Amino acid sequence: MPPSATTAPAAAMTPPARIDFIDLKAQRRHIGTAMDEAILKVVHGGAYVLGPEVREFENRLAEFCGAKHAIGCANGTDAIALCLMVLKLRPGDAVICPSFTFAATAEVVAWLGATPIFVDIDEATYNMDPKGLDAALVTADQLGLKVKALIAVDLFGQPADYDPISAFCKTHGIVLIADSAQGFGARYKGRVAGSIGDFATTSFFPAKPLGCYGDGGAVLTDNEEHVEVLRSLHVHGRGTDKYDNIRIGVNSRLDTIQAAVLLQKLAIFDWEIGQRQMVAARYAEGLGDVAIVPGVMKDCVSTWAQYTIRVPASQRARFIERMTEHGVPTAVYYPKPLHQQTAYKRFPVAGNGLPVSDKVAHEVVALPMHAFLDPATQDYIIAAAREALRA
Ligand SMILES: *Cc1c(COP(=O)(O)O)cnc(C)c1O
Repeated sequence: MPPSATTAPAAAMTPPARIDFIDLKAQRRHIGTAMDEAILKVVHGGAYVLGPEVREFENRLAEFCGAKHAIGCANGTDAIALCLMVLKLRPGDAVICPSFTFAATAEVVAWLGATPIFVDIDEATYNMDPKGLDAALVTADQLGLKVKALIAVDLFGQPADYDPISAFCKTHGIVLIADSAQGFGARYKGRVAGSIGDFATTSFFPAKPLGCYGDGGAVLTDNEEHVEVLRSLHVHGRGTDKYDNIRIGVNSRLDTIQAAVLLQKLAIFDWEIGQRQMVAARYAEGLGDVAIVPGVMKDCVSTWAQYTIRVPASQRARFIERMTEHGVPTAVYYPKPLHQQTAYKRFPVAGNGLPVSDKVAHEVVALPMHAFLDPATQDYIIAAAREALRA
């Protein structure tokens, strides 16, 4: 072999200075002084709670996805809980949701004393499999529970398969909540995630595709009555004013500073979603022959909250170890589906268990993904991953 053929791969494996899983500092540099000015304006203005930036952001957020209304709240978990409070969810009620998701999706159902019924996912999309929904109704019947709502999750940024899910909900009089914490802004057959479902919710946790500099969340809906109740519920069940309490509510507001941060980030969000498509395409091109790379449904666009590949279960630990040695951070979302978790084991699963959720939990591993991942760094990550899969 000529010397160049043996030295070239070694040269390609020289790690860049530091690889971030999500590079928020690069985003910060990209936005520049506009961010500092926006934050300082709030600091000097003094309207720290429900200041003008909050309503301005809510309006822009709704406009972005084509929903009529957005209501900011303290985080993405509260956003889902507030929807369930509007529905007056209580013990004896059930909510259908996936098990292969972040705990918040089912947690809020349990908060209210109701029962989550876990359904399996589609192996190609990691999202709720519409074919499993009828089995959830049977399970609810057997347990004497009434299915009030269904929470679909846009996992890893890809929208859930909303056409069959919406049809199922309509047929059975079930309220559809879209947990778009990871998929806000994704596209589903001409619609934008955030405007799909009776309610859509999102999270502005810093690592989400649209994140702030702390905690934040929002509910989106077209329903005027729901908006009124949500605006009351998130400020202690207020009526005409703060000291008129007409229902039991909570304290869950989006901070003015976070709204100011989000206004800056929303301004570049479309561009960022575009950048993420290029990053995803480069990964698919570079790794498609050695790992299972994620696919996107026809006529859909993912926001790529995560770029999750799959490797054989027996090789995953070694793969992660080798990537760490190469200086490449990875993460496993999610190592254990909810129906296997200590806190959630007691809740029912639909049908005969959730084999797909159980299987993929042992195979998934997420690679660095953000809008500022440059081609050179990504080539290095791809080379490292290919090496780690051979090792
Ligand atoms: C992050 C996340 C949430 C919760 O959002 P927080 O703002 O952290 O409360 C809910 N559902 C999913 C799918 C998430 O990824």
